Parts: sequence; structure tokens; C-alpha cells
Amino acid sequence: MAHEEAAKSGAGLKLVIRNIGVLLSGDLQGPILDADTLVVEDGKIAAIGREKDVDTEGATRVIDANGTVLAPGLIDSHVHPVAGDWTPRQNQIGWIDSCLHGGVTTMISAGEVHMPGRPKDVVGVKAMAITAQRGFAALRPSGVKVLAGAPVIEHGMVEEDFRSLAEAGVRLLGEVGLGSVKDGPTARQMVAWARKHGIQSTIHTGGPSIPGSSLIDKDVVLAADADVIGHINGGHTALPDAQIRSLCEESPRALEIVHNGNERAALFTLRTAKESRQLHRVILGTDAPAGSGVQPLGIIRVIAALSSIGEIPAEVAFCLATGNTARMRNLDCGLIEVGRAADFVFMDGAQHSAGKTLLESVRLGDLPGIGMVVIDGEVKGERSRNTPPATRVPKILK
Ligand SMILES: [Zn+2]
Repeated sequence: MAHEEAAKSGAGLKLVIRNIGVLLSGDLQGPILDADTLVVEDGKIAAIGREKDVDTEGATRVIDANGTVLAPGLIDSHVHPVAGDWTPRQNQIGWIDSCLHGGVTTMISAGEVHMPGRPKDVVGVKAMAITAQRGFAALRPSGVKVLAGAPVIEHGMVEEDFRSLAEAGVRLLGEVGLGSVKDGPTARQMVAWARKHGIQSTIHTGGPSIPGSSLIDKDVVLAADADVIGHINGGHTALPDAQIRSLCEESPRALEIVHNGNERAALFTLRTAKESRQLHRVILGTDAPAGSGVQPLGIIRVIAALSSIGEIPAEVAFCLATGNTARMRNLDCGLIEVGRAADFVFMDGAQHSAGKTLLESVRLGDLPGIGMVVIDGEVKGERSRNTPPATRVPKILK
């Protein structure tokens, strides 16, 4: 059984990470930083640089990265959690803990839609969203930050509902289209109300996921104007290429590629975004748990696929699951910058990969070997039980 813990601040702790082989920033504008040392105070990045140039005095914990690659903790932009580390979708316990072992430190709910007997009436929708927000804010499964409480809009909701949800702490809408609202004009009105009150939205894109859900085409997506074009590569059934191209070119919103989608459509989206200089809008998710199950390595599998078959440098592919998502979703993690949350994943080339370095191995389509995961400056996992074994792993010196 995965252990669970309440959110905490890391106050009074000073972590020094030295001997970093390659420091990935999460930022497309400069994906590799010229630094080998990170200093973390009170759970936030306090300094980045060469060991001789930063203040490492008074550390309460020292990690020797052992020449491995350090990246911002991975962000899964699209999950469907329900309660703690249990999912009723495939009746699994410990799925979030498994994803921690895949380098994921933050997950964003696209709706708690697998709740058995999910309410569809307005008061029930609101009550469930607030309950989910409270539950995951109070308890992080294995330390993973799960941003949840994402109501799926239904006909009958009025602006006051969005105002009161926001006042209660709800910051997300679940996938537009999974409830009764499937038409452009109604979706657009509710998304606008949500945005006005500080609630970010996402929309289901493509054919129905499971019996009972329905087609959302590019005209509805463009009309709704949600902040995130959820699973632009379908969940699994993708829109025709011409419609995906329209979404890349006619909307300014985030282009979310998911693991549980159409792989060819994912590559088409990546190429289209790259050609139209919109790579900064591409973000990654798993869309798990789902009919396809749970993929603990889903995010690194998409990174390796997009880098190798999609022909982008590995350090760029990592930005799609870190800095891009942080910026499109206004998160305080995802980038190696002073003041950001100290959420990190340490990786090295998997043992016996044909690639000589981690970045080369990912470019060849191999998964990274994960050696450690840190959240808010605290070690939450050491050598991953799920990835192929990393050649080198970090060591805790103190
Ligand atoms: Zn969906």
C-alpha cells in the first residue's frame, strides 16, 4: 500500500545537490543550463550554478548527483483521479505511487469522472468538485501533487456556480464535453465564466472515449475556447489531420498530447506545432486512468516517442512535460529557476542502451533510467522500481 502524507512546506531545510552531469531547465529557450549545483531552501530553488560559486554552507541534506541528469519533476497534464491512490476505472490501488516512479511529481485532474455514481445535477457536481479539491490538497499520495477538484460542466450551471466554486478553492474545470454540455455556444459561455473567476478549463477533443461520451470536433473546440485543447491526439479517437491543423493554427490555447491517444495524430500535432513555431504550446499528459489503464511510465514514454520518431532533441522533449506545462497552466514548478518549487527527477541512460548518454538514449527511443525523485526539496523515491535500471544513480551523502 502506497504511503500517503499531508502537504508540508519543507521549512528550515537546506538541500544541496552537487555533481549534476547535465541540468535540464524545462525552458525551450535554453533547455540545458551551464551549472552542476542546485541549492534548495524551504522547498524552493534558492541558487543554481557551479559548486564554487554558490553558498552550500549549512546544508541539512546533501545529494551527490553522481554525474546524472537532473530535470524538473514531470507534470502529467491530464489524469482522472478519484480518491487518494485508488482508481475505480481499472480498480487499482497505488497507481499514483507507480507514476512517481515514472518521474511524475505533479498531476492535473481533467475531471474526477470515474467516481462510481458520479453526480450530474448541479449541486452534486459542485459538491464532488470541492470534495476532490479538499481531499487531494490535504493528502498527497506518496508526495505527488495532485491538483484536483475539476467539475465537468452540465446544463443549468449559471455564473454564480462558477463564482462560488472559485470561492471554495476550485481552480480547474474537468473536460468540457464529458457532461451534458457539448455545444459550442453553451461551452463558450461557461468557459468564459470559469475564466473570469480564475478557473482554468480543458476540453475533450475527438471521438468518444468510452460508451456514453461523444464527439467534440474542431468547431466546438474553437468555439468553447478552453485554456487547454485536451488530448488533441484523441482519447483515443483523433480528429482528421486538417482539423488538428486548424486547432494548431487558429487557437492560441495549449495543445495537449496524451499517452492514451492516437500516436500518429500525436506526431502530426508535434510536426504541425514545430512548423508553425508553436512548440511552446505543446504539453503532455497520460489521460490515465482510462480504458487503456494506467501507465506509470506514460510521460517518459511520450517524451521518448516524440524525441525519437518525432525527431526533436531529447532536452526539448523534456520541456513539453515540464516548463511548457508550468507556463500554460500557471504552476510554480516545472522550471529550474530561483523561487520555483524544488521538484526534480534524476535520470541516467538505462543500462545497456545503445545511446552513450541519457539524452542520446532518449533520442534513440529508449526510456530513461530514473534514479531519484525529489518533491519540495525532499527525497520521495530513489532508484525507480518501474524504469529500466539507470546506469548511475544519485547518492544521499547527508
Ligand atoms: Zn477526454
